Amino acid sequence: MVGILEDKDRIFLNLYGFQDWSLEAAKKRGAWNATPDMIALGRDWITAQIKNSGLRGRGGAGFGTGLKWTFMPKEVKEGKPHYLVVNADESEPGTCKDREIMRHDPHLLIEGCLLASFAMQAHTCFVYIRGEYVREREVLEAAVKEAYAAKLIGKDNIHGWDFDLVVHHGAGAYICGEETALLESLEGKKGQPRLKPPFPAGAGVYGCPTTVNNVESIAVVGTILRRGADWFAGFGRPNNTGTKLMCISGHVNTPCNVEEAMSIPLKQLLEEHCGGVRGGWGNLKAIIPGGSSVPMIPAEQCETALMDFDSLRELRSGLGTAAVIVMDQSTDLVRAIARIAYFYKHESCGQCTPCREGTGWMWRVMERMARGDADPKEIDMLLEVTTQVEGHTICALGDAAAWPIQGLFRHFRPEVEARIASYRSGRPHVQGATLVAAE
Ligand code: SF4
Repeated sequence: MVGILEDKDRIFLNLYGFQDWSLEAAKKRGAWNATPDMIALGRDWITAQIKNSGLRGRGGAGFGTGLKWTFMPKEVKEGKPHYLVVNADESEPGTCKDREIMRHDPHLLIEGCLLASFAMQAHTCFVYIRGEYVREREVLEAAVKEAYAAKLIGKDNIHGWDFDLVVHHGAGAYICGEETALLESLEGKKGQPRLKPPFPAGAGVYGCPTTVNNVESIAVVGTILRRGADWFAGFGRPNNTGTKLMCISGHVNTPCNVEEAMSIPLKQLLEEHCGGVRGGWGNLKAIIPGGSSVPMIPAEQCETALMDFDSLRELRSGLGTAAVIVMDQSTDLVRAIARIAYFYKHESCGQCTPCREGTGWMWRVMERMARGDADPKEIDMLLEVTTQVEGHTICALGDAAAWPIQGLFRHFRPEVEARIASYRSGRPHVQGATLVAAE
């Protein structure tokens, strides 16, 4: 057996698009199977099942999905309809899992939208899809049409819960993946995060109660309800349950997306699904385990790390979106983090001073450090600035910009110090040629 998860326990049976995505094929794989029965068991049953399954949000934050649903008002007030919004603005560098659901198994997502909306008394769901995902949107829209035509959704559908699904495409801004910026964008405004409170469950899209969930979180709902909360909770460690799509890129022999059991050892994931690290395990230098915003962990820690929320948090990193970026000994880590710093500087929406000014400042210093053109004292100054940005902004983009830099210096500070020393002695580091043009 490769990995931990057996084929019979996979939720995404068409992850690689080897089969047809359309309704008839999706039904054969299990989608839309027994959906009316699940709805007949009531919204409290659905929410309780999702809570008991231990499903935690798959978009990065890892908040309990069922618990989030319970924050919605119990009664629908006149003029304040409830909404479900699905965050399909997948933009975290390294992450490419939701796109596979939307283009290869869209009916699992549509069914999940219906079930989750029913559980939260929402008659309308918006799927906010990243602007660059053109093919994914085309397939999703075609699948939505099929579902309307088959009366699975829409007015007077066979499930007895009037339900509209609207696919809305963004324009390619990373920040619109932040849930309140997404809601602003959905309303036709500039995509900038809102101050919280109020939280979306109180005042979300159009000022109405709204829950925002990730694509994967919603797409697994139907299968969890069909197979039972205990089945899903049977994978992974307590508090880290279920199966998870993981995207592995970088210096492995066969980069891939794979559905695996939570808590699979990171080393096993790479060895068995990705053909191992390029040049062998001994050639590993560091791994970013959850998308570009989480701190890297060095090779020694990768030996024992588990792919779950708690294990990676103990290592002062995070599961994030489970986008594993593998870097072997040939990697110029300082250059890599400088490039990531440029990304966050570029994507800052500019509302908060620490983020607007800090991301640009951190990037410029990182660029110099990649060349070695810095004073050793600037390392502590840079780390001090990361703590001034982290936790002092409206949204988590400030943290996302600070953490990769902190991770670099936590584990590889001597590498940066040596580079600065060699630059100052007139023997500059040759690998760090500028990749990003200075503005
Ligand atoms: Fe905008 Fe950055 Fe503030 Fe987030 S942290 S609201 S991206 S300026």
